[in-house]
Amino acid sequence: MSRIRQNVIITLLIILFNGLSFGAGAESPRYIFLFIGDGMGLSQTAAAELYLNAVNHKSDPIQTRRELSVTSFPVTGLMTTHSADDYITDSAAAGTAMASGIKTNNGFFSSGEKGLLTEHFVKKGYRTAILTNVPADHATPAAFYTRRLHRKAYYEIAREMMRSPVEIIAGSALLGNTPRAKEGRPGVFEGDDKRVRVSLDKEEIKWPDEPRARVLLIPDEEMGQFPYTIDDPANVIMEKAFLSILDRLSEGPFFFVIEGGNIDWACHNNDAATVVREVISFDRVIRKAVEFYRRYPDETLILVTGDHETGGLALGSETAESLSPALLREQVCSSEMMAIRTKGSSESFQNIVITFFGEDFYLYIKERGKEELLKNRWKDVREETDVYTRLAFFEELTGLFAGRAGFSWATGGHSGSPVPVWALGEGSLSFTGLYDNIRLYEKILKLIP
Ligand SMILES: [Zn+2]
Repeated sequence: MSRIRQNVIITLLIILFNGLSFGAGAESPRYIFLFIGDGMGLSQTAAAELYLNAVNHKSDPIQTRRELSVTSFPVTGLMTTHSADDYITDSAAAGTAMASGIKTNNGFFSSGEKGLLTEHFVKKGYRTAILTNVPADHATPAAFYTRRLHRKAYYEIAREMMRSPVEIIAGSALLGNTPRAKEGRPGVFEGDDKRVRVSLDKEEIKWPDEPRARVLLIPDEEMGQFPYTIDDPANVIMEKAFLSILDRLSEGPFFFVIEGGNIDWACHNNDAATVVREVISFDRVIRKAVEFYRRYPDETLILVTGDHETGGLALGSETAESLSPALLREQVCSSEMMAIRTKGSSESFQNIVITFFGEDFYLYIKERGKEELLKNRWKDVREETDVYTRLAFFEELTGLFAGRAGFSWATGGHSGSPVPVWALGEGSLSFTGLYDNIRLYEKILKLIP
């Protein structure tokens, strides 16, 4: 064998060896974050990013700078989201597909015969946690610890949560523990389970001494959901909870699921101003995970996706010549907060619009000849004690307000659009391409050594 040929062979062997060792490392991250923006499709992310571009660089020429953290992730994929019985999924079936690799009908959790992702991670010695800004027994978080039940069987879901091997489950409330859900049955915490309830709204989260105690983190004052960012911009409860959980998990290998549930709720209300701020605050939590990744780049994987798109949000509208995302800033609170704040109100339609959306939007309504109709609608609903009746009225206004800024909504429900998957870190390359949401489960499982 010639010396040249010998050198070539040795060089090839070195390349092969390095490639193999790189491949092995790339397949087994120790720290895995799975962020799920509920209802967060490409449009919700793009709307938030354009909003930041418009607000932060007002006088500059039009550009699409990477203002969000997630949009700078090097790997992107696309995921289809249909359920077993509908092209348009709900959160139970979508969460189930990702958490258990099985398609179910809308409304239902998995039979779980392949095992839930969280259970596989527990078996492999990973620590596990779930954090959401909506109730801990709501569909998306529940899909990661429950089986077979219907999404509305809150009491049974909460009981399963107490037994689940997932170490930390955190949310804004526990729907299964309300008097209506219990219906004379014992409270969710009664019994011989070992899950400790810890308060989330104190200055500092007081963890139990037992380092692996199974914990439920819920605020003392149970909220329906954490406040929308637009209603309480200084509230950083989600970031605080995220960092505190991360601190508790960080010496272990871990699998950490984080849901931004408020995005979906604001999309159902067709409330674009609230949605963009929710996506931005969810991205702030993602940024904290990126900081963690920078400390352990060879061992960390961050995945960010949506379970489905909600609202059929379009970046374009029949009622505006162009897209003016900065106009969304004129809305002062969420449509839900408007409905709450106007309880028993005798304010005029004009005052209501100016208070919540500003003078220019009132003029816009007048110019478009919609004032009389909406004024009469307001007269009908302002006496209503039911918050949802007033909410429906404010949804009409936020829909119109979005149209003025150049956005439009196709539905108050979910849509069948595929959702983006962003990936950063070890093993991220396997998340490129277009695949179905049950494949996300398989791709994540393949990463476990
Ligand atoms: Zn939804």
